[in-house]
Parts: sequence; structure tokens; C-alpha cells
Amino acid sequence: MTVHPNPRNLVRQMWPKVKPRAKKVKAPGKARTLRLVGIRSGGMCERCGGRGHSTHHLRNVSQGGEWSPQNCVRLCGSGSTLCHGWVTTHSKEAWVEGFHLEAGEEPGSRPIQSALHGVVYLTAAGGVTPIEGGAA
Ligand SMILES: [Zn+2]
Repeated sequence: MTVHPNPRNLVRQMWPKVKPRAKKVKAPGKARTLRLVGIRSGGMCERCGGRGHSTHHLRNVSQGGEWSPQNCVRLCGSGSTLCHGWVTTHSKEAWVEGFHLEAGEEPGSRPIQSALHGVVYLTAAGGVTPIEGGAA
């Protein structure tokens, strides 16, 4: 009697099972930051007041920037479109508005020109502090 190989085994030999991917290490503080920035912004773009789509790091993650309400703002667009795209491609102008920080600058050290709150400092707790003498 001829033994016929199980076609399933042939398939398994040709395409072995892929190992399950290692779980990504979650960015520390990300969930809390997204929640607090979402509350602060009401889901709106903090630069133009339109509908916010994405979260921008004032100080880039590659420059040591962290997930914190002081270092993150809600912006419209993506990394290449609308306010988020503008901030990414116009870092000098964005720095003037407070939406970009250089490598050595600490989050919360410079105010942002928020469309929602006026000229304010971002706080670590997810709130805003008006600059002295400024209206917020
Ligand atoms: Zn915007």
C-alpha cells in the first residue's frame, strides 16, 4: 500500500510557522500623556484650533524628548501635512511659536502660542499656565 503524504505537512514544510513577534516595549508615559493632552486640547489642534489628528513632540524623541504633557501637543494633520507637517518642516518658525524645542531645551521652559489657551506654558500635570501679564 502506498502512503500518501498529507498535503498539510508539505505546506508546513514549505512555509514554516513564523515565530510570534516580540512584544514592543511601550513608550513610558505614552498612555497618560495621550489622555492628558487629549483633555487639555479637547481633541483640537493646539496651533490652529482645528480638529486635532496627531500628537507632536516639542522636543523630538530622537533628541531625548519624552512622552509628557509638557513635551507633547495635539496638532492637526500628520507628520507631513497641515500643522503637524508645518511644525516638522519649519522648526525655526515653530520654535518661535513654541511648538519646537532644540535638543538642550527643557519642555515647559518656553511658552507656546496656543490657539486654544493663548500664550501659555504647558505644565507637567497636563494643564497650562498663562505667561505673566498675558491674557489666556
Ligand atoms: Zn492645526
